[in-house]
Amino acid sequence: MAPLQSGDIERILIDRSTIATRVAAMGEEIASDLELATGADRLVVVPVMTGALVFAADLVRTLPMRLRLELLEASSYPGASTTSQGVTLSEGPVGELTGAHVLILDDIFDSGRTLAAVKRLVAEHNPASVRTAVLLRKLVERAPDVSPDMEPDYVGFDVPNEFVVGYGLDHDGWYRNLPDIGVLGQSD
Ligand code: 5GP
Ligand code: MG
Repeated sequence: MAPLQSGDIERILIDRSTIATRVAAMGEEIASDLELATGADRLVVVPVMTGALVFAADLVRTLPMRLRLELLEASSYPGASTTSQGVTLSEGPVGELTGAHVLILDDIFDSGRTLAAVKRLVAEHNPASVRTAVLLRKLVERAPDVSPDMEPDYVGFDVPNEFVVGYGLDHDGWYRNLPDIGVLGQSD
């Protein structure tokens, strides 16, 4: 059998039960804001694949309103890189966003470029409203081309500037299935 991946984790930053409690609270907040602000009882949720897969799966199950999922694929860390190589979005339409209340989900907000690019793309479809939620936000300076109004509307946790994996976040495609979020040990 393959060696246990948990052995590669040097330090757990956020454990599974802390994540579950926070995601449930985010869901309640989002649901009540949407209802108060827009009276929306229908929502289109746009998770940014692949990192937001696990977060989206948990968060949408806390949302009580009718919703549809429209997946979008973005990549900025191809292969084993741990520094951003610029955002690439998947081509093609994102389904019916025109006139819809849209909630964009991502795993982590770092330079801000991914969310800014996704927001731009969604805005082209003339949605009724756009909100953004991320599980993690890195305490770093945003990219100079990312304006402060790109900060996400909902943030699960602020994390230090370290490369984290687990709960959907990968390194070279691995570790997405770890239930906790942690920092990788030095490999040689
Ligand atoms: P940004 O465009 O804000 O710089 O980066 C956001 C994207 O980069 C996220 O969607 C995520 O996929 C990836 N990313 C940023 N920081 C990390 C990290 O610490 N760990 C992992 N696994 N991915 C990250
Ligand atoms: Mg991503």
